[in-house]
Amino acid sequence: MSEKRDYYEVLGVDKNASDADIKKAFKRLARKYHPDLNRDDPKTAEEKFKEVNEAYSVLSDPKKRQQYDQFGQAAFDGTGGMGGGFGGFGQGGFGGGFGGAGAADGFGDIFDMFFGGAAGGGRRARQPGPERGSDLRYDLEISFEEAAFGKDVELRIPRTDNCETCHGTGAAPGTSPETCPECHGTGQKQTVRNTPFGRMVNATTCSRCHGTGKIVTHPCKDCHGTGKKRATHTIKVHIPKGVDQGSRVRVAGAGEAGTRGGSNGDLYVYIFIKPHKFFERQGYDVTVEVPISFVQAALGDTVQVPTLDGLVDLKIPAGIQPGTVLRIKNRGVPYLRGSGRGDQHVRIKVLTPRNLSAKQKDLLKEFGEISGNNVNPEQKTFFDKIKDFFGRDGKR
Ligand SMILES: [Zn+2]
Ligand SMILES: [Zn+2]
Repeated sequence: MSEKRDYYEVLGVDKNASDADIKKAFKRLARKYHPDLNRDDPKTAEEKFKEVNEAYSVLSDPKKRQQYDQFGQAAFDGTGGMGGGFGGFGQGGFGGGFGGAGAADGFGDIFDMFFGGAAGGGRRARQPGPERGSDLRYDLEISFEEAAFGKDVELRIPRTDNCETCHGTGAAPGTSPETCPECHGTGQKQTVRNTPFGRMVNATTCSRCHGTGKIVTHPCKDCHGTGKKRATHTIKVHIPKGVDQGSRVRVAGAGEAGTRGGSNGDLYVYIFIKPHKFFERQGYDVTVEVPISFVQAALGDTVQVPTLDGLVDLKIPAGIQPGTVLRIKNRGVPYLRGSGRGDQHVRIKVLTPRNLSAKQKDLLKEFGEISGNNVNPEQKTFFDKIKDFFGRDGKR
Protein backbone atom coordinates (compact mmCIF):
# COMPACT_ATOMS: atom_id res chain seq x y z
CA MET A 1 0.00 0.00 0.00
CA SER A 2 1.29 3.42 -0.75
CA GLU A 3 1.98 6.01 1.90
CA LYS A 4 -1.27 7.62 3.01
CA ARG A 5 -1.81 11.32 3.45
CA ASP A 6 -2.56 12.59 6.92
CA TYR A 7 -6.32 12.46 7.50
CA TYR A 8 -6.45 15.99 8.89
CA GLU A 9 -4.58 17.19 5.83
CA VAL A 10 -7.02 15.32 3.57
CA LEU A 11 -9.95 17.15 5.13
CA GLY A 12 -8.02 20.43 5.42
CA VAL A 13 -8.77 20.84 9.11
CA ASP A 14 -6.40 21.19 12.04
CA LYS A 15 -5.84 18.64 14.75
CA ASN A 16 -8.16 20.38 17.20
CA ALA A 17 -11.04 20.64 14.75
CA SER A 18 -14.47 20.05 16.29
CA ASP A 19 -16.76 17.28 15.08
CA ALA A 20 -18.88 19.90 13.37
CA ASP A 21 -15.86 21.33 11.52
CA ILE A 22 -14.87 17.89 10.37
CA LYS A 23 -18.37 17.12 9.13
CA LYS A 24 -18.53 20.46 7.32
CA ALA A 25 -15.15 19.95 5.66
CA PHE A 26 -16.17 16.48 4.63
CA LYS A 27 -19.48 17.60 3.08
CA ARG A 28 -17.71 20.31 1.13
CA LEU A 29 -15.00 17.99 -0.19
CA ALA A 30 -17.33 15.10 -0.91
CA ARG A 31 -19.40 17.46 -3.06
CA LYS A 32 -16.27 18.79 -4.75
CA TYR A 33 -14.92 15.37 -5.64
CA HIS A 34 -18.15 13.59 -6.31
CA PRO A 35 -17.48 11.58 -9.49
CA ASP A 36 -20.77 12.67 -11.07
CA LEU A 37 -19.57 16.25 -10.94
CA ASN A 38 -16.10 15.50 -12.28
CA ARG A 39 -16.84 13.78 -15.56
CA ASP A 40 -13.69 15.14 -17.21
CA ASP A 41 -11.45 13.23 -14.80
CA PRO A 42 -13.62 10.73 -12.95
CA LYS A 43 -10.75 8.47 -11.92
CA THR A 44 -8.84 11.13 -9.98
CA ALA A 45 -12.09 12.37 -8.52
CA GLU A 46 -13.04 8.92 -7.37
CA GLU A 47 -9.68 8.44 -5.68
CA LYS A 48 -9.98 11.78 -3.95
CA PHE A 49 -13.53 10.97 -2.99
CA LYS A 50 -12.47 7.69 -1.44
CA GLU A 51 -9.60 9.36 0.39
CA VAL A 52 -11.93 11.99 1.81
CA ASN A 53 -14.41 9.34 2.81
CA GLU A 54 -11.77 7.24 4.52
CA ALA A 55 -10.41 10.23 6.43
CA TYR A 56 -13.93 11.12 7.51
CA SER A 57 -14.80 7.60 8.59
CA VAL A 58 -11.88 7.74 11.03
CA LEU A 59 -12.03 11.33 12.26
CA SER A 60 -15.80 11.31 12.75
CA ASP A 61 -15.55 8.39 15.14
CA PRO A 62 -14.23 9.62 18.51
CA LYS A 63 -12.61 6.31 19.36
CA LYS A 64 -10.93 5.88 15.97
CA ARG A 65 -9.86 9.50 15.97
CA GLN A 66 -8.18 9.10 19.33
CA GLN A 67 -6.36 5.97 18.11
CA TYR A 68 -5.29 7.79 14.98
CA ASP A 69 -4.00 10.74 17.01
CA GLN A 70 -2.06 8.37 19.21
CA PHE A 71 -0.66 5.85 16.77
CA GLY A 72 -1.02 7.43 13.35
CA GLN A 73 -1.69 5.50 10.19
CA ALA A 74 0.58 2.53 10.84
CA ALA A 75 -1.09 1.43 14.01
CA PHE A 76 -4.57 2.47 13.14
CA ASP A 77 -6.18 -0.01 10.79
CA GLY A 78 -6.51 -2.92 13.15
CA THR A 79 -6.37 -3.00 16.90
CA GLY A 80 -4.04 -0.06 17.28
CA GLY A 81 -0.97 -0.06 19.44
CA MET A 82 1.50 -2.63 20.61
CA GLY A 83 1.12 -6.09 22.03
CA GLY A 84 -0.19 -9.34 20.58
CA GLY A 85 -3.44 -8.07 19.20
CA PHE A 86 -5.73 -9.08 16.50
CA GLY A 87 -8.27 -7.32 14.42
CA GLY A 88 -9.89 -6.87 11.06
CA PHE A 89 -9.19 -4.13 8.58
CA GLY A 90 -12.05 -1.98 7.51
CA GLN A 91 -12.59 -2.42 3.82
CA GLY A 92 -12.38 1.30 3.29
CA GLY A 93 -16.13 1.65 3.46
CA PHE A 94 -16.76 1.51 -0.27
CA GLY A 95 -18.16 -1.61 -1.82
CA GLY A 96 -19.54 -0.81 -5.16
CA GLY A 97 -17.86 1.97 -7.10
CA PHE A 98 -19.86 4.69 -8.72
CA GLY A 99 -21.04 3.14 -11.94
CA GLY A 100 -24.57 2.68 -10.64
CA ALA A 101 -25.29 6.31 -9.81
CA GLY A 102 -27.25 7.81 -12.65
CA ALA A 103 -27.04 11.49 -13.50
CA ALA A 104 -30.52 12.13 -12.16
CA ASP A 105 -29.51 10.50 -8.90
CA GLY A 106 -28.15 13.77 -7.49
CA PHE A 107 -25.76 13.85 -4.61
CA GLY A 108 -28.60 14.49 -2.19
CA ASP A 109 -29.08 10.76 -2.09
CA ILE A 110 -25.43 10.17 -1.43
CA PHE A 111 -25.57 12.42 1.58
CA ASP A 112 -28.63 10.61 2.79
CA MET A 113 -26.54 7.51 2.77
CA PHE A 114 -23.69 9.12 4.65
CA PHE A 115 -25.70 10.93 7.23
CA GLY A 116 -28.88 8.91 7.30
CA GLY A 117 -29.41 5.60 8.98
CA ALA A 118 -26.12 3.93 8.16
CA ALA A 119 -23.76 4.55 11.05
CA GLY A 120 -20.17 5.16 10.01
CA GLY A 121 -21.27 6.28 6.58
CA GLY A 122 -20.23 5.30 3.14
CA ARG A 123 -22.41 2.28 2.62
CA ARG A 124 -23.61 1.90 -0.93
CA ALA A 125 -26.05 -0.51 -2.45
CA ARG A 126 -23.86 -3.52 -3.04
CA GLN A 127 -23.75 -5.18 -6.41
CA PRO A 128 -24.40 -8.89 -6.23
CA GLY A 129 -20.96 -9.92 -7.47
CA PRO A 130 -17.84 -11.50 -5.97
CA GLU A 131 -16.55 -9.63 -2.96
CA ARG A 132 -13.03 -9.95 -1.63
CA GLY A 133 -12.63 -10.98 2.02
CA SER A 134 -11.33 -8.57 4.65
CA ASP A 135 -7.64 -8.22 5.39
CA LEU A 136 -6.47 -9.16 8.85
CA ARG A 137 -3.80 -7.70 11.05
CA TYR A 138 -1.62 -9.44 13.60
CA ASP A 139 0.85 -7.62 15.86
CA LEU A 140 3.92 -9.77 16.48
CA GLU A 141 6.56 -8.98 19.05
CA ILE A 142 10.02 -10.41 18.32
CA SER A 143 13.50 -10.03 19.78
CA PHE A 144 16.23 -7.75 18.45
CA GLU A 145 18.16 -10.74 17.14
CA GLU A 146 15.09 -12.30 15.50
CA ALA A 147 14.48 -9.05 13.65
CA ALA A 148 18.09 -9.04 12.51
CA PHE A 149 18.35 -12.62 11.32
CA GLY A 150 14.73 -13.52 10.56
CA LYS A 151 12.49 -16.17 12.04
CA ASP A 152 9.82 -18.67 11.07
CA VAL A 153 6.77 -18.36 13.28
CA GLU A 154 3.46 -20.18 13.54
CA LEU A 155 0.56 -17.88 14.27
CA ARG A 156 -2.86 -18.92 15.50
CA ILE A 157 -5.26 -16.85 13.44
CA PRO A 158 -9.01 -16.89 14.07
CA ARG A 159 -10.89 -15.95 10.93
CA THR A 160 -14.03 -16.41 8.90
CA ASP A 161 -13.92 -19.19 6.30
CA ASN A 162 -16.41 -20.32 3.75
CA CYS A 163 -18.54 -23.17 5.08
CA GLU A 164 -17.18 -26.41 3.64
CA THR A 165 -20.56 -28.13 3.55
CA CYS A 166 -22.21 -25.58 1.25
CA HIS A 167 -19.03 -24.05 -0.24
CA GLY A 168 -20.07 -20.65 0.99
CA THR A 169 -23.43 -20.55 -0.75
CA GLY A 170 -25.44 -20.97 2.44
CA ALA A 171 -27.74 -23.43 0.64
CA ALA A 172 -28.13 -26.99 1.89
CA PRO A 173 -26.25 -29.60 -0.20
CA GLY A 174 -28.30 -30.61 -3.24
CA THR A 175 -30.11 -27.26 -3.33
CA SER A 176 -28.91 -23.93 -4.64
CA PRO A 177 -29.86 -20.33 -3.89
CA GLU A 178 -32.76 -19.09 -6.00
CA THR A 179 -33.04 -15.83 -7.85
CA CYS A 180 -34.73 -13.23 -5.65
CA PRO A 181 -38.31 -12.76 -6.91
CA GLU A 182 -38.47 -9.25 -5.51
CA CYS A 183 -35.60 -7.72 -7.53
CA HIS A 184 -35.21 -10.45 -10.17
CA GLY A 185 -31.60 -10.98 -9.17
CA THR A 186 -30.40 -7.41 -9.54
CA GLY A 187 -30.14 -6.84 -5.78
CA GLN A 188 -31.65 -3.40 -6.22
CA LYS A 189 -35.09 -1.86 -6.10
CA GLN A 190 -35.79 1.20 -8.17
CA THR A 191 -38.27 3.80 -7.09
CA VAL A 192 -39.33 6.60 -9.40
CA ARG A 193 -40.20 10.01 -8.00
CA ASN A 194 -41.68 12.95 -9.85
CA THR A 195 -40.00 16.18 -8.84
CA PRO A 196 -40.00 19.73 -10.22
CA PHE A 197 -36.76 18.80 -12.00
CA GLY A 198 -38.22 15.77 -13.64
CA ARG A 199 -38.39 12.08 -12.87
CA MET A 200 -35.78 10.89 -10.44
CA VAL A 201 -34.85 7.25 -10.29
CA ASN A 202 -33.59 6.14 -6.95
CA ALA A 203 -31.97 2.73 -6.51
CA THR A 204 -31.97 1.12 -3.09
CA THR A 205 -30.79 -2.26 -1.86
CA CYS A 206 -33.42 -4.96 -2.14
CA SER A 207 -34.62 -5.69 1.38
CA ARG A 208 -35.63 -9.25 0.58
CA CYS A 209 -32.19 -10.48 -0.50
CA HIS A 210 -30.09 -7.69 1.06
CA GLY A 211 -28.60 -6.88 -2.32
CA THR A 212 -27.31 -10.34 -3.11
CA GLY A 213 -29.95 -11.05 -5.78
CA LYS A 214 -30.33 -14.57 -4.39
CA ILE A 215 -32.45 -16.19 -1.73
CA VAL A 216 -31.56 -19.33 0.18
CA THR A 217 -34.71 -21.42 0.44
CA HIS A 218 -33.09 -24.43 2.18
CA PRO A 219 -30.38 -23.14 4.51
CA CYS A 220 -27.26 -25.23 5.08
CA LYS A 221 -27.47 -26.78 8.56
CA ASP A 222 -23.78 -26.33 9.33
CA CYS A 223 -23.67 -22.57 8.86
CA HIS A 224 -27.40 -21.76 9.25
CA GLY A 225 -27.46 -20.32 5.76
CA THR A 226 -24.72 -17.76 6.29
CA GLY A 227 -22.19 -19.60 4.14
CA LYS A 228 -19.49 -18.71 6.69
CA LYS A 229 -17.81 -20.37 9.63
CA ARG A 230 -15.32 -19.15 12.21
CA ALA A 231 -12.18 -21.22 12.56
CA THR A 232 -8.71 -20.81 13.98
CA HIS A 233 -5.84 -21.64 11.66
CA THR A 234 -2.18 -22.19 12.32
CA ILE A 235 -0.36 -20.15 9.71
CA LYS A 236 3.37 -20.38 9.09
CA VAL A 237 4.93 -17.01 8.48
CA HIS A 238 8.50 -16.34 7.50
CA ILE A 239 9.81 -13.14 9.05
CA PRO A 240 12.69 -12.11 6.78
CA LYS A 241 16.08 -10.92 8.06
CA GLY A 242 16.47 -7.19 8.52
CA VAL A 243 12.87 -6.26 9.37
CA ASP A 244 12.56 -3.11 11.44
CA GLN A 245 10.13 -1.62 13.95
CA GLY A 246 6.72 -1.35 12.28
CA SER A 247 7.66 -3.49 9.24
CA ARG A 248 4.74 -5.33 7.77
CA VAL A 249 4.84 -8.86 6.41
CA ARG A 250 2.01 -9.78 4.05
CA VAL A 251 0.68 -13.31 3.78
CA ALA A 252 -1.43 -13.33 0.63
CA GLY A 253 -4.78 -15.06 0.91
CA ALA A 254 -4.56 -15.71 4.66
CA GLY A 255 -7.27 -13.18 5.50
CA GLU A 256 -11.00 -13.69 5.69
CA ALA A 257 -12.89 -15.65 3.06
CA GLY A 258 -14.42 -13.78 0.14
CA THR A 259 -18.11 -13.82 -0.66
CA ARG A 260 -19.80 -15.14 -3.81
CA GLY A 261 -16.55 -16.49 -5.19
CA GLY A 262 -14.47 -13.46 -4.21
CA SER A 263 -10.86 -14.07 -3.23
CA ASN A 264 -9.62 -14.20 0.36
CA GLY A 265 -8.24 -11.10 2.03
CA ASP A 266 -4.61 -10.96 3.11
CA LEU A 267 -2.98 -11.27 6.51
CA TYR A 268 -0.62 -8.49 7.55
CA VAL A 269 1.85 -9.23 10.32
CA TYR A 270 3.13 -6.03 11.94
CA ILE A 271 6.56 -6.32 13.55
CA PHE A 272 7.31 -4.89 16.97
CA ILE A 273 10.85 -5.31 18.24
CA LYS A 274 11.56 -5.68 21.95
CA PRO A 275 14.25 -3.34 23.31
CA HIS A 276 17.67 -4.97 23.71
CA LYS A 277 19.79 -4.97 26.85
CA PHE A 278 22.88 -3.64 25.07
CA PHE A 279 22.04 -2.75 21.51
CA GLU A 280 20.29 0.15 19.88
CA ARG A 281 19.41 0.12 16.23
CA GLN A 282 19.51 2.91 13.65
CA GLY A 283 18.46 1.51 10.29
CA TYR A 284 20.85 -1.38 9.71
CA ASP A 285 23.54 -0.09 12.10
CA VAL A 286 23.77 -1.27 15.69
CA THR A 287 25.23 0.81 18.51
CA VAL A 288 26.59 -0.54 21.76
CA GLU A 289 28.11 1.50 24.58
CA VAL A 290 31.30 0.05 26.09
CA PRO A 291 32.73 1.34 29.38
CA ILE A 292 36.53 1.40 29.78
CA SER A 293 38.74 2.76 32.54
CA PHE A 294 40.60 6.03 32.18
CA VAL A 295 43.82 4.03 32.24
CA GLN A 296 42.69 1.93 29.25
CA ALA A 297 41.63 5.15 27.53
CA ALA A 298 45.03 6.70 28.08
CA LEU A 299 47.19 3.70 27.27
CA GLY A 300 45.01 1.89 24.74
CA ASP A 301 43.92 -1.73 25.05
CA THR A 302 42.06 -4.53 23.35
CA VAL A 303 38.59 -5.19 24.77
CA GLN A 304 35.80 -7.60 23.95
CA VAL A 305 32.61 -5.97 22.71
CA PRO A 306 29.22 -7.62 22.15
CA THR A 307 27.96 -7.80 18.56
CA LEU A 308 25.05 -9.65 16.97
CA ASP A 309 27.55 -12.45 16.27
CA GLY A 310 28.85 -12.67 19.84
CA LEU A 311 31.93 -11.14 21.43
CA VAL A 312 34.47 -9.56 19.10
CA ASP A 313 37.94 -8.15 19.96
CA LEU A 314 38.20 -4.41 19.46
CA LYS A 315 41.43 -2.44 19.64
CA ILE A 316 41.09 0.77 21.63
CA PRO A 317 43.68 3.30 20.43
CA ALA A 318 45.75 5.08 23.12
CA GLY A 319 44.37 8.50 24.06
CA ILE A 320 40.76 7.81 23.02
CA GLN A 321 38.26 10.39 24.29
CA PRO A 322 34.90 9.69 25.98
CA GLY A 323 32.04 9.50 23.50
CA THR A 324 34.24 8.44 20.59
CA VAL A 325 32.42 6.03 18.31
CA LEU A 326 34.46 3.22 16.80
CA ARG A 327 33.10 1.32 13.84
CA ILE A 328 33.23 -2.40 13.19
CA LYS A 329 32.30 -3.01 9.56
CA ASN A 330 29.64 -5.52 8.56
CA ARG A 331 28.59 -6.54 12.07
CA GLY A 332 25.25 -4.76 12.00
CA VAL A 333 21.83 -5.95 10.89
CA PRO A 334 21.66 -7.87 7.58
CA TYR A 335 19.93 -5.92 4.82
CA LEU A 336 16.30 -6.84 4.20
CA ARG A 337 16.92 -7.01 0.46
CA GLY A 338 20.10 -8.36 -1.07
CA SER A 339 23.25 -9.34 0.81
CA GLY A 340 25.46 -7.30 3.10
CA ARG A 341 24.97 -5.81 6.54
CA GLY A 342 25.12 -2.56 8.42
CA ASP A 343 27.95 -1.71 10.82
CA GLN A 344 28.43 -2.09 14.54
CA HIS A 345 29.12 1.21 16.28
CA VAL A 346 30.93 1.13 19.61
CA ARG A 347 30.47 4.22 21.75
CA ILE A 348 33.29 4.56 24.26
CA LYS A 349 32.41 5.51 27.81
CA VAL A 350 35.41 6.41 29.97
CA LEU A 351 34.96 5.78 33.68
CA THR A 352 36.60 7.99 36.27
CA PRO A 353 37.82 5.94 39.27
CA ARG A 354 35.98 6.19 42.59
CA ASN A 355 36.87 5.08 46.12
CA LEU A 356 40.61 5.20 45.58
CA SER A 357 43.00 3.59 48.06
CA ALA A 358 45.74 5.68 49.65
CA LYS A 359 48.32 4.18 47.32
CA GLN A 360 46.24 4.87 44.21
CA LYS A 361 45.77 8.46 45.33
CA ASP A 362 49.50 8.91 45.85
CA LEU A 363 50.26 7.55 42.40
CA LEU A 364 47.72 9.83 40.76
CA LYS A 365 49.02 12.85 42.67
CA GLU A 366 52.49 12.02 41.51
CA PHE A 367 51.15 11.68 37.96
CA GLY A 368 49.50 15.07 38.32
CA GLU A 369 52.69 16.69 39.54
CA ILE A 370 54.73 15.30 36.66
CA SER A 371 52.20 16.38 34.04
CA GLY A 372 51.13 19.62 35.74
CA ASN A 373 47.49 18.70 35.16
CA ASN A 374 48.06 19.19 31.48
CA VAL A 375 47.58 15.74 30.10
CA ASN A 376 46.27 16.80 26.71
CA PRO A 377 47.12 19.80 24.52
CA GLU A 378 43.36 20.41 24.11
CA GLN A 379 43.11 21.16 27.81
CA LYS A 380 45.89 23.77 27.63
CA THR A 381 44.30 25.41 24.60
CA PHE A 382 40.93 25.56 26.38
CA PHE A 383 42.29 27.23 29.50
CA ASP A 384 44.41 29.62 27.47
CA LYS A 385 41.26 30.68 25.67
CA ILE A 386 39.45 31.18 28.96
CA LYS A 387 42.23 33.42 30.19
CA ASP A 388 42.05 35.45 27.00
CA PHE A 389 38.32 35.75 27.44
CA PHE A 390 38.05 36.57 31.15
CA GLY A 391 41.49 38.11 31.76
CA ARG A 392 44.03 36.76 34.24
CA ASP A 393 42.12 38.03 37.28
CA GLY A 394 38.97 36.12 36.29
CA LYS A 395 36.94 39.24 35.45
CA ARG A 396 35.95 40.51 32.05
ZN1 LIG B 1 -22.98 -24.02 4.97
ZN1 LIG C 1 -33.79 -9.12 -4.12
